[in-house]
Amino acid sequence: MKPFLFEILSGRTLFGEGSLEEIGKETEKLNGSRTLIISTPRQKELNERISDLLGKRCAGIYTDVIQHVPIETVEKAMETVNELEIDSLVAVGGGSTVGLAKAIALQKPIPIIAIPTTYSGSEMTSVWGITENGYKTTGKNPNVKPQTVIYDPLLTTSLPTYLTIVSGVNALAHCVEALYAKNSNPITSIMAQEGIQSLYNGLPKVVANPREISSRSEVLYGAWLSGTVLGSVEMALHHKLCHVLGGSYKLPHAETHTVILPYVIAYNAKYAPSAVQAISKSIGIDRDDVAGTLFDLIKSFGVKTSLAEIGMRENDLDEAAEFVIRNPYYNPRPVDQKSIRILLENAYTGARPGIELKI
Ligand code: NAD
Repeated sequence: MKPFLFEILSGRTLFGEGSLEEIGKETEKLNGSRTLIISTPRQKELNERISDLLGKRCAGIYTDVIQHVPIETVEKAMETVNELEIDSLVAVGGGSTVGLAKAIALQKPIPIIAIPTTYSGSEMTSVWGITENGYKTTGKNPNVKPQTVIYDPLLTTSLPTYLTIVSGVNALAHCVEALYAKNSNPITSIMAQEGIQSLYNGLPKVVANPREISSRSEVLYGAWLSGTVLGSVEMALHHKLCHVLGGSYKLPHAETHTVILPYVIAYNAKYAPSAVQAISKSIGIDRDDVAGTLFDLIKSFGVKTSLAEIGMRENDLDEAAEFVIRNPYYNPRPVDQKSIRILLENAYTGARPGIELKI
């Protein structure tokens, strides 16, 4: 067995149908007496319900959330935080909402309670990101990691099917990369396998019946595991590619993960055989064709499966390959510009990946 270091971020997680009801008690535990709810206008009813549950502790609702956390939105939110003398945050929604709460906590270290309603996993990490002049800077700070996370599957039934699929594959990607992470360890690998199994089995059931709670629970459970490994071990080529494509070409976050994942699995397959074996076991196939099997599942959902479809321009592929290798993340298979260009070309056209990506 390879030597390992086991380190996991601390935090309190409540999981289950109706767990939202605990929000008042959880806020009290963190001594929150002037709490700001951060969310999106789309989730108006939910925001009002949380405000009722918080009662006197709720000092306001802030819904000016924009994906990738532009600095201007942080500055505006900070004005509200200071004016209302906010001492705690409740972030309800996806990675963008949690992202704004983290950016606030970076300026003023106050506790965050996250109530995720997508499967992005941001709630389990200490990674923040802020976009300024079109460039997203990210960093790690323990103050931005939500102290309490409430996963209530009832809140995910409203997530539209398309977003459910792409966000679910985003979660799958965290688990896949955790299996071959530079600092993987036996516990995160067990969590990643369990996460893959829950997501892979749960997503088709949710697509068939989006309001069915047991399937929503299965997927949200997978998302919790996925967020936990994302917050614990370092991600590799897949995440690097998605950061470059999202950051430099403004491709949508979860959709980019959905397109890229099968190609990265094929790229790494021969260099990470135990990860491939673990994925095969989790999804119940007794063959090596993990990338193709996953691609087929994603395609069967009817979501976009090529970079061309999600807005990438063919002319930018050379430059993107160059950006990826400029500051590469660790990856089990070495990366070079030619190989990454071939990977991107395959993802651009949306060709079904084989067992291995041949260069
Ligand atoms: P998102 O937060 O942008 O949400 C997408 C849309 O879904 C929004 O319009 C939102 O209102 C809507 N929505 C969310 N939950 C809903 C629900 N239950 N019902 C109906 N509508 C709902 O998307 P995302 O994919 O969750 O997050 C993406 C962002 O998170 C990116 O900026 C990404 O970089 C960031 N992220 C950060 C980390 C980290 O560790 N820092 C990890 C993952 C993602």
